[in-house]
Amino acid sequence: MEIDYYETLSVTKNASSGEIKKAYRKLAMKYHPDRNPDNKEAEEKFKCCTEAYEVLSDERKREIFDTYGHAGLKNSGYSGPGNAEDIFSSFGDIFGDLFGFGGGNRSQARRDGPVAGNDLRYDVEITFMEAVHGVSKEVQLTKRDTCWTCEGTGSRPGHKKKICPTCNGRGQVVRSQGFFQMSSTCPQCHGEGEMITSPCNDCNGAGLVEKTKKVALKIPAGVDTGARMRLRGEGEGGRRGGNSGDLYVIVHVQEHEFFKREGDTVYCRYPIPMVKASLGDTVEVPTIHGKKNLKIPAGSQSGELFTLRNEGVPSLRGRGRGDMVVELQVLTPTNLCDEQKKVLMDFDGLCQQHGQNQEQEGFFKRLFNEVLGK
Ligand SMILES: [Zn+2]
Ligand SMILES: [Zn+2]
Repeated sequence: MEIDYYETLSVTKNASSGEIKKAYRKLAMKYHPDRNPDNKEAEEKFKCCTEAYEVLSDERKREIFDTYGHAGLKNSGYSGPGNAEDIFSSFGDIFGDLFGFGGGNRSQARRDGPVAGNDLRYDVEITFMEAVHGVSKEVQLTKRDTCWTCEGTGSRPGHKKKICPTCNGRGQVVRSQGFFQMSSTCPQCHGEGEMITSPCNDCNGAGLVEKTKKVALKIPAGVDTGARMRLRGEGEGGRRGGNSGDLYVIVHVQEHEFFKREGDTVYCRYPIPMVKASLGDTVEVPTIHGKKNLKIPAGSQSGELFTLRNEGVPSLRGRGRGDMVVELQVLTPTNLCDEQKKVLMDFDGLCQQHGQNQEQEGFFKRLFNEVLGK
């Protein structure tokens, strides 16, 4: 069955954009998840009216819907309700539009006008592997959120506020100080111009109550320490219909015992016995995407770097991955038994015979004879 968006919002087919906003605001207030915790039916209704609003508030989408219905929207690339974040952002937008008030700018708050909520910051620590592969986390935030009993007004429902007698509603008082007249915020109403006669029982007139809320964080693959994500509308609640603030999540990545990272490139030191480095070998090296084969050519030296293309961190922007760089660490054998010592001494003899210690001899020659001048 196809949903009629006009029916969802209870407006007529030729409703003005103002009427659509008004209808949506009313429903959104009623069914907002904060106001109806653990109420699946309300959540569903909230989603439905948000979806309807998203279409009908957009002139182009509304025209497509009027002419071709849902099929038309699908073909135009509009595919139904957005994710939770989108829903919240349109929820924020409508409050902004309705009250002609941009979020976050407190200086614009007028008497009885909407007051936007503060932005909040949340620092989250994740492991190295969570950062390179991405992770979904649910965090619990305790924050001041809109009191839905009074809709953030602070007044007990049905009770009006009274004009502040000290400033006559201006929010400012003028004091004379010698020749000067100084204007300052009214101490009685704190600049609001109004006073609550009967405070809301739930928030004691603050318009905000402390709430603990679970927030789903979707941390994308490839983030690094310092990455900042903005979750619109997840900050402190607004008052008197003001926008909620935003939540800024700052990511901190723990160090890994074996992997290091620089941008999208991953570094790892790989220890290899002297004999294998000398003879060459194919070894399994760890990457962040699992074990990979690496061919170590005969005669490889300590500190030599091998690059495994596209085995690094997925790029946060766009496609592709960085590389994995393996640094060889040649291990000198220790705790030799007599037999091993003998073999190595014989081996050294052979090296002398073949003149294979020349590099070391050359080093000494140059150092003592030429550089130090002895
Ligand atoms: Zn309240
Ligand atoms: Zn006052």
